Amino acid sequence: MSETVLCVGYTEDDGTLARPALQALTSAVAIADATGGTLAVGLVGGRIGEAAPQLAGITGRVLGVEGEAFAQPRAATDAAAAEALARATGATILVSAATPRGHRALPAVAGRLGGVIDTHVTGWSHEGGAVSVHRWYYRQRIETTLSRTVRPWVLLFDAGSADEWRFDGALPEIEHVEVAVDASSLRTRVVGVEAPPSEQQTVRPDAALLFVAGAGWTKKQADGAVHAAEAETIIREFLDRTQASLGSSKSLVDMSGEGQRVLPFLTHMNQVGQTGSTPRHPKGLATCCHGEEPHTVGWRFVTERRAVNLDPNCGWAKGKADVLYVADAFAVMAALNEALAARQG
Ligand SMILES: Cc1cc2nc3c(=O)[nH]c(=O)nc-3n(C[C@H](O)[C@H](O)[C@H](O)COP(=O)(O)OP(=O)(O)OC[C@H]3O[C@@H](n4cnc5c(N)ncnc54)[C@H](O)[C@@H]3O)c2cc1C
Repeated sequence: MSETVLCVGYTEDDGTLARPALQALTSAVAIADATGGTLAVGLVGGRIGEAAPQLAGITGRVLGVEGEAFAQPRAATDAAAAEALARATGATILVSAATPRGHRALPAVAGRLGGVIDTHVTGWSHEGGAVSVHRWYYRQRIETTLSRTVRPWVLLFDAGSADEWRFDGALPEIEHVEVAVDASSLRTRVVGVEAPPSEQQTVRPDAALLFVAGAGWTKKQADGAVHAAEAETIIREFLDRTQASLGSSKSLVDMSGEGQRVLPFLTHMNQVGQTGSTPRHPKGLATCCHGEEPHTVGWRFVTERRAVNLDPNCGWAKGKADVLYVADAFAVMAALNEALAARQG
């Protein structure tokens, strides 16, 4: 069945599309191609013209809903814009990025159009003339492939599911679509953004390395003493030097939450695992973390895994890591910092 694919991208403040939107676009282009269908791109934002060069080479309509009312990530206006774009293009499949903005607005769009939505899509295939999508359930333990006959079908693709759209070719013309917004749609306002200082921003989804700190950093060491301050210094230096993303085991973040000041820049946002996050990084290094299943299930998308643990029978040794260094993480990380310092000057 040939599909009319619409990719909806919400632009950033500078009018461009961010990486997750460009990754969703790659999937949208490929779905339209595979089904012998057509592609349209819909831009939504306060400014959208700056995104046109990023769409160079797109064959298909490019439509835009632009204006002050659409600058804010607000469900009411985001949904109204996407609905108008879907109606203008007659989309049978609407693709967007699984960002908080997409998650808030697009389920309502699916409902208003009499369609269905699948979120956290990580891939797709085209077999027997039908599009199927891939999605993980039960904290990334079960991967399913599912297909639907209901249209329109809204698909929110997780970041990292595809490469970014490589733009090259003619710049598209943007057809402007007018969307009327009444006062009730503007009641929600974003009044500001509160972000921690960059040195405290330890969750870095784009980092090449995930560095995981476990509860062992806070345990009594061979000399019978706890070395929390030393742990903090070592970990902080390593993060500063490598700009790795900081992950943690549940045990360590729980301790921080209970008032035991372990690493001041560690919160539940850093927790990796069954009840934490499932980040995507090319490499991961776990230290002082036992590697139990509820933790390592969060490493599903970490390609190369290494761990440092004193215990040769820890979870990492049981098929959870590619390489386990049976060693004292304090000594290993201090030596690693020295080597990095020598290299970086
Ligand atoms: C329903 C449920 C959900 C859960 N969800 C999660 C989750 O999302 N994420 C998560 O992480 N956990 C989760 N857990 C908890 C999980 O089962 C483990 O309890 C937790 O991961 C253990 O944390 P840890 O490995 O840091 O600590 P510990 O088990 O205390 O391990 C500390 C490790 O440090 C090592 N060590 C100590 N000193 C050194 C040193 N100097 N050098 C090297 N190694 C050293 C020790 O050998 C030990 O292996 C969940 C549990 C349940 C029941």
